[in-house]
Amino acid sequence: RADCAVRLYDEELGRKQAEENEILNSFDTALRQRQFQIYLQPRFSLADLSVVGAEAVVRWIKADGTILHPESFIPLYENNGRIVELDYYVFEQVVAFQAKNGRLGRAQLPISVNASILHARDDSTVKKYLQILNKYGVDPSLLEIELTETATVSYYDNVKKLFERLRKVHMMTSLDDFGAGYSVLNTVIDIPVNTVKIDRAFIMNCESSDRGIYFLQQVIAMVKGLGYHVVCEGVETQEQAGILRDAGCEEAQGYWFARPMPIEQYEKMVYPEG
Ligand code: C2E
Ligand code: MG
Ligand code: MG
Ligand code: MG
Repeated sequence: RADCAVRLYDEELGRKQAEENEILNSFDTALRQRQFQIYLQPRFSLADLSVVGAEAVVRWIKADGTILHPESFIPLYENNGRIVELDYYVFEQVVAFQAKNGRLGRAQLPISVNASILHARDDSTVKKYLQILNKYGVDPSLLEIELTETATVSYYDNVKKLFERLRKVHMMTSLDDFGAGYSVLNTVIDIPVNTVKIDRAFIMNCESSDRGIYFLQQVIAMVKGLGYHVVCEGVETQEQAGILRDAGCEEAQGYWFARPMPIEQYEKMVYPEG
């Protein structure tokens, strides 16, 4: 019996290893064949429920049509460093989309992209962003770079320096997933970002207790009081949206408003006149 359990465990491990190898080995093909696709999740003003921008998240659409979410491949590409190329790819697609909006005379709403911690540890990051922006003639303030609180806590000096440089070139910045994981509350005291995105974990079930609501109100007040723009993530009900609006949160994102969607669908929603 013990033998059998060990064998099953080995098989399971082997299968997982094979899956991971497959993901690692097919990066180049996937990139070349444009299997990585940008989805946009609209960001909403809580004051009037208008769309004020979007966040870009990546999906891997495999040749057979299966859709992989980032949690299944981003950590692996962070380990082998390929995430950097993927992030620039996502950035360039979004910049190209902003250029298209400009050409068509559409309102150009800012779009945020996620950046891996590896960008903060590379001195050429801002130069590369600017090269891409120049290539398409897009205003830097239409792009926002999100770095997670976890990355910021682990590499505070690098991240702070990157945020400062981005500010100098007028790109927008945000601290993502604030309050998630093993956060260090005082990270937020002095971080040079425009926006703090409060993690979904704080929003989830907040409506179920007065203490949950109170806690959220205080977090929002603190972040606003420190001078940041506040965005709440993972809003799944109308009730949550109301609580956040009453607590002074300006902007929110979540399934109740809209899920991440392919760019064409986002265009139909935000630019119905074409
Ligand atoms: P994130 O940046 O915090 O992105 C928000 C995630 O929450 C997205 O998951 C989104 O689909 C999900 N979400 C939005 N609203 C709701 C909601 O109301 N309820 C729930 N349950 N979930 C909601 P997704 O797309 O699976 O991305 C997961 C994470 O992967 C992102 O978290 C981000 O950290 C990372 N990621 C995504 N795209 C990229 C990328 O291009 N580069 C890098 N470096 N990381 C990325
Ligand atoms: Mg997901
Ligand atoms: Mg994000
Ligand atoms: Mg987040």
